[in-house]
Amino acid sequence: MDLKTKNELKEMDTEITDLPIIDLRKCSGCNKCIIACDHNALELIDINKERNKHGFFAWKKLKAVIKYPINCIGCKACYSVCKHKAIKFKN
Ligand code: SF4
Ligand code: SF4
Repeated sequence: MDLKTKNELKEMDTEITDLPIIDLRKCSGCNKCIIACDHNALELIDINKERNKHGFFAWKKLKAVIKYPINCIGCKACYSVCKHKAIKFKN
């Protein structure tokens, strides 16, 4: 029997799922997609965090990113709630 390692299985799952593609230029950081995702696949991050750490004057710039692609089931709930059309899918 062809036994696959856990990592190989994870890679296969990621390839199979049609993951959301988030356009960070369009994302307003409104958090709606994170709330809509029942699978904890997305996260809101501050892309200015590093700059702030080094003493630059910069305000928080929140953007949605895929944190756990393995959790995504391709339900497109995130796409449905995004008013800024920042989320796309290949198919
Ligand atoms: S719903 Fe759209 S605009 Fe709001 S955080 Fe998600 S991707 Fe960004
Ligand atoms: S497609 Fe569904 S599971 Fe995947 S990130 Fe969007 S809401 Fe979450």
